[in-house]
Amino acid sequence: MADLGRRARERDTEAGLGHPAWERDTEASLGHRAWERDTEAGLGRPAWERHVEDVSGLLAGLAEGTLGEAFQRTAHLRPDAVAVQVDDDALTHAELDERAAAVAGWLRGRLPAGARVVIAAPNGIALVTAYAGVVRAGCVAVLASPALTERELRHLVSDAGAEAAFAAGASREALARIGHPLRTLAALDGTDFGDVLACGLTRDPEPVPSDSPALLAYTSGTTGTPKGVPLSHANLLSSIRAALAAWRWTADDVLVHALPLTHQHGLGGVHAALLTGSRTRVLSRFDERRLIETVAEERASVLFAVPAMYERLAELAELTQPASLRRLRLAVCGSAPLSPELALRVATAIGQVPLERYGTTESGLNVSNPLGGPRLPGTVGLPLPGVELRICDVAGRDAAEGEIVLRGPQVFTGYWNRPEATAEAFHPGGWFRTGDLGHVDPATGHLTISGRSKELVITGGLNVYPREVEQVLEEHPGVAEAAVAGLPSARWGEEVTAWVVRTGHSPAVSGDALIAFARTRLAPYKCPKRVLFIDALPRNAMGKIVRHELPAPSAHDT
Ligand code: AMP
Repeated sequence: MADLGRRARERDTEAGLGHPAWERDTEASLGHRAWERDTEAGLGRPAWERHVEDVSGLLAGLAEGTLGEAFQRTAHLRPDAVAVQVDDDALTHAELDERAAAVAGWLRGRLPAGARVVIAAPNGIALVTAYAGVVRAGCVAVLASPALTERELRHLVSDAGAEAAFAAGASREALARIGHPLRTLAALDGTDFGDVLACGLTRDPEPVPSDSPALLAYTSGTTGTPKGVPLSHANLLSSIRAALAAWRWTADDVLVHALPLTHQHGLGGVHAALLTGSRTRVLSRFDERRLIETVAEERASVLFAVPAMYERLAELAELTQPASLRRLRLAVCGSAPLSPELALRVATAIGQVPLERYGTTESGLNVSNPLGGPRLPGTVGLPLPGVELRICDVAGRDAAEGEIVLRGPQVFTGYWNRPEATAEAFHPGGWFRTGDLGHVDPATGHLTISGRSKELVITGGLNVYPREVEQVLEEHPGVAEAAVAGLPSARWGEEVTAWVVRTGHSPAVSGDALIAFARTRLAPYKCPKRVLFIDALPRNAMGKIVRHELPAPSAHDT
């Protein structure tokens, strides 16, 4: 894992730019100039102070400790309060703490610190317990969506070098077939997990350093191969602590969400409860009516959702005028662009403009509108405490409009075992290239995201990387080549769409057959909803597909 990102940071540390770079001015040229400019533009420390008044106090402890220690501390302070409830299953902080200790003891009886442990299950209290146990053990959690196919799980297991797994349902069956390098597989939905919890090992393993990885998240790139993103305890703690402080989170808050816990956005809600002693209620699946009922039942104070969910909530709220949504003190929105039109429609329906936040798997939670306002629709707000943000051209020079680059304790240090991808992901000085394009309003300091340089499709709040889908389609004998992009969709935000050039293979493959083919290899949300056949893909002189020249569908296309 020695890679360029880490090397860049090490070099910075020698130059006085590393941890805690975000606490002090620096002499190093690039960072120094950016800092001054950002400070003037309201993007450095002054931006943090628009989120949190006593920012120095917060910064001092932002990255300290480990998740396990932090969760244990909370359990001692609020033992009897409900920590997390998924559907009808709830655990108090003390119960979760006790179970996490048992899982940690069981794991460390079998594996060393740092071992990768896959957790593949639908939203459920067992997933939360397994996760808390893995991080408490000093092992590394590899969270896998239950929608992943056997082929996708196989890549994850071998790339991560995972030695153990906790899994439920079809994921467990697939993992059992995969085997090597997995040595241990425990069912989260059967008696095995009960055995793990009953094993009675409650002695805590020796603590791991806070910069050791707690989570290995997987994110695809334009290459189409999902890459591992190691996130340390310090990365995850800084990310959530900065947001919690900015959003004035207290132990009395009650969060409701229906996001997948295997993604950072949903998992962040669990971290919030386990750091503050508050309560998080999770729905195993999104249903707007059920979500509104749950907000009412819980007398919830905070809601997390993605724009596609807000669209459906606003539609129902316009009809039923539920008072519960108006009682929320905070409605947070992120993971995909929220149009100003939808922001205002939601504001009319629930009485507040959703508070937009922006981040990436690699960099955590980085930017949000300030809680006290102004919440400017069309912007994602100001950098959260500790996050330095600049706009760059491709060479890494400051620009008014360009790629958003970030630095701070929230940001990872490099991809898992991929030095080349890591080298591409950082500009000198340790600035992470998000692949998102944007600009900062010099008057307000607010960041607007204008597009993606990565060709990510975001459908229903989930990311789909075109290259991954293209590669699968191109495996079909009837397909010569394929391009995948998102088309605007009222329901999904974007709809995964494939443009396909057929081979002379007989019989000619149909769109339905290709969608069915993709479904055997990819999670359903990644599969094209529509396939358009064309004679040739538009390409530039360098042979790259020019996606904006892909022809729009006509009425007779499937
Ligand atoms: P992920 O790695 O799954 O967290 O996805 C990160 C990507 O989602 C970012 O690079 C952005 O393209 C997009 N994204 C996240 N939050 C927002 C937001 N508030 N507005 C627009 N795009 C967003």
